[in-house]
Amino acid sequence: MKMSAVFVVLLLASCTVSLTSAEDVCSTVEILEFNGDSANQTVTIQVDFGPRLPGSNASMELRKWFMETRPAFDWRLDSHSREGYNLTNLEGKLVPENVQEGGPIVVLAAHYDSRDRAERDQNPNMTDMPIPGANDGGSGVAVLWELARIIPSMNLEHEVWILLTDAEDQGPTPSMLGAKAWAENRTSEEVARIDAFLLVDMIGDADLKIYRTFPPSPTNEDGNRLWNAVEQLAQPLGLIDNLSDCDGNPGMDVVNFSRSDGVIDDHVPMLNVGIPAIDFIDIRYGENATEWGGYWHTHEDTPDKVSAESLAHIGRLLELGLRQGSWLKSDNSSSDANASESDVLEVDSVHTSNDDASSTQNIFIAGTTFAAILLIFTTLVFLHQGVRLKR
Ligand SMILES: [Zn+2]
Repeated sequence: MKMSAVFVVLLLASCTVSLTSAEDVCSTVEILEFNGDSANQTVTIQVDFGPRLPGSNASMELRKWFMETRPAFDWRLDSHSREGYNLTNLEGKLVPENVQEGGPIVVLAAHYDSRDRAERDQNPNMTDMPIPGANDGGSGVAVLWELARIIPSMNLEHEVWILLTDAEDQGPTPSMLGAKAWAENRTSEEVARIDAFLLVDMIGDADLKIYRTFPPSPTNEDGNRLWNAVEQLAQPLGLIDNLSDCDGNPGMDVVNFSRSDGVIDDHVPMLNVGIPAIDFIDIRYGENATEWGGYWHTHEDTPDKVSAESLAHIGRLLELGLRQGSWLKSDNSSSDANASESDVLEVDSVHTSNDDASSTQNIFIAGTTFAAILLIFTTLVFLHQGVRLKR
């Protein structure tokens, strides 16, 4: 009997563990605040400023608008002269009260400049003219603007930085000048504290498809940690084909890691200095568009092509990840950046967080299996005793 009681307690405990993790994510999904329509409205606001070319009045207007409408962040202009461009990155820091000094940082980034030419436009007379950049530029800024509204009230226990990069998309070959300048000016202490640099670019297409992008390579530990987190968050949000969301409805085919795309974007300068970074981007802009085709780098990149629903998919995924702590390495690894830990320890902490990232489903399956075995065992013990009593 004593043994059975212990089993029952264990059984209940294992059920509790398995249920709470699945419920945790879904109860957080219920409180998500990201508003896709609000985000989408800013795409028109941005395009109406005019082409956001480095050094232009439109560029300045955009920065001013962003800072004035999101006063909770501590904003700083980060100006550089590079390759003939006078560029200005906009960097905003949110340090929640009582946050540990020197603790982990999550950076959310997008380029806010719009392309100075339309080399893919069908009209040869228009290829030298700047594009509206509704999706290419506008969509990423829109998602960050809406997140910047919500983040201050999230009561996070770590810093969040928002980075709007300039001069990503200028010249014959876009060369990410703002991101390079920003990355190269980070101190080693800052690099060590950044657990995730999450870049959003061209994520407004109505036919949104987010494939895993590289770099980072499939063997990069931080890349795997972050992409695993994305996959885990996408399912409860109903963004994975046919997998049930929190309401039990089959998911849409939005996040799909059976495919991958090689993309050089603002995350690459970050990877080059050792910052864990990934790029959310849909390089097939328009229905049935081929990669790097459709409306991309044409005058058709207009606000009507950007979908509030698609912005919400990405915004909600980023918000859920922030609320769940999914973008952090682990509870402790970054908070003691000053302690000179060995490489072995670093790798260990990454492994641990990798396990965390593949969390809900695995914990649920393991918990349920454990519970089932215990249930059978307990029933056998009870039956055995029952049989014995009858005798
Ligand atoms: Zn572009």
